[in-house]
Amino acid sequence: MGNSINDIHMEDFQNVVNDLLMRNRSILDIISKIQTSAGRVNRAVVKSVTHCGCVEIDGKKQTFPGEASIENLQELLSTQLKGKLCPECRDAIEKEIGGALFYLAALCNTLGISLYDVILKEKEALSTLGSYSLR
Ligand SMILES: [Zn+2]
Repeated sequence: MGNSINDIHMEDFQNVVNDLLMRNRSILDIISKIQTSAGRVNRAVVKSVTHCGCVEIDGKKQTFPGEASIENLQELLSTQLKGKLCPECRDAIEKEIGGALFYLAALCNTLGISLYDVILKEKEALSTLGSYSLR
């Protein structure tokens, strides 16, 4: 992998995480923190709906016509999210995503994995598989 600017940023992030991780250095603490921090991301999203109200969720069963092609599925299927995040909720969600990334980077450090390589490999796999990799 080349040393692009993104590569350096991500490596730097992993180094900072490594320097700051003290109390929860055990892999057991790290994997349970990944779980907790992912839950906190979800909680921040839910609070933007239930406490702030800047966004709403319009959840219902989505049906799509059998003749729909993969190309226009994206237009036919809704995110079921209405509205736009206010600056406060955006900030809160970004902070929780940052926390989740912190523990993911910590796991990568412990296992000797480069987070940047993971992102690159995932992107390559997705573009190789094309529409077979739809999630
Ligand atoms: Zn809000």
